[in-house]
Amino acid sequence: MRDFSYVRAHSIDAARQAAALPGAMLLAGGTTLVDLAKCGVAEPDSLVDITHLKGLDAIKVDADSAIIGALAKMSHVADHAEIKSRFPAVSEALWQAASAQLRNMATIGGNLMQRTRCPYFRDPANFSACNKRSAGSGCSAIGGVTRGHAVLGTSDACIAMYPGDLATALVAFDAVVHLGERQVAVDDFFLLPGATPDREHAIQPGEMITAISIPASGTARRSTYLKIRDRQSYEFAAASAAVGIDFEADGRTIRDLRVALGGVATKPWRAHAVEAALTGKVLSEDRVRAASLLAMEGAIDHGANHYKIELAPRVVARAILNTGAMS
Ligand code: FAD
Ligand code: SF4
Repeated sequence: MRDFSYVRAHSIDAARQAAALPGAMLLAGGTTLVDLAKCGVAEPDSLVDITHLKGLDAIKVDADSAIIGALAKMSHVADHAEIKSRFPAVSEALWQAASAQLRNMATIGGNLMQRTRCPYFRDPANFSACNKRSAGSGCSAIGGVTRGHAVLGTSDACIAMYPGDLATALVAFDAVVHLGERQVAVDDFFLLPGATPDREHAIQPGEMITAISIPASGTARRSTYLKIRDRQSYEFAAASAAVGIDFEADGRTIRDLRVALGGVATKPWRAHAVEAALTGKVLSEDRVRAASLLAMEGAIDHGANHYKIELAPRVVARAILNTGAMS
């Protein structure tokens, strides 16, 4: 058992100052951090408990946007009436994540910051080579068991998949991460592994997520989240898609389309090529199925994860057709 100190923060400034110290980590719901500490991946010298910060659990929805505090619980956001009606893909992504117990405990800030489920990353006792854990040590997954690894956004240094559901929906609708005064688009908040897979987020020491905001839009209102997984509950995505469609007045021609993929990439993955191929076109099944293949442009498999290249376009097509059929 490693010793660490525990600090309860009573203001955002105090939390940020404490978190800026070497070896300090923020503690929210603890559903990821405690696991990582138990398996030896996280070795904090001090835990800065932010769960008592007032006001950071608020959820505000107005005509322009939804603003969700970093300490809002996954279950509260999923069940919020206006999130359900005006941002259904966000609510559905949260409902399909983890388990009821975890969603009651886990926070939105912690959810965005969750780490990969790569089994080699989570087993330092048996696998010393992991560039994400220890820069320059190598990658045990390449050449290993890769069924759950990414096919998009990978590098020679790391092929770990980003496992979160919420961020997939957020990237589809141009959400923004608030780091106090500084704001970063969700798409820019998550970093590609490149040569530095140990750097995962555009967050600096001493910064913390205070909220996320999602612009209101026609695509966000008519949206769905489809998640395909090995079992129907308590499982990460094999492939998922967040889709939003805004139609022209004829109700058939696509004015605006948003498509993002989860379970297949090293970060939440916006499928711009699919969006471009269908925008301005009349929705039809043949057209959607052909365009959905573009979601896998640039995909590279590592053997056992090849199935994702075939599965993901089908998930995208199904999600677009389901969203188009919404009343
Ligand atoms: P914590 O564990 O407290 O923190 C996680 C990380 O975020 C830590 O590094 C912490 O320092 C940092 N952090 C926390 N808050 C902030 C903040 N405000 N600013 C900056 N950094 C912060 N997720 C899915 O999306 N889909 C799933 O299907 C899914 N299945 C799961 C199954 C299991 C068995 C488990 C254990 C988890 C699963 N999860 C899934 C992940 C789960 O959603 C996360 O564990 C949870 O959202 C983390 O939130 P937390 O508040 O508990 O974070
Ligand atoms: Fe580590 Fe990434 Fe390789 Fe997994 S895929 S072992 S996280 S470097």
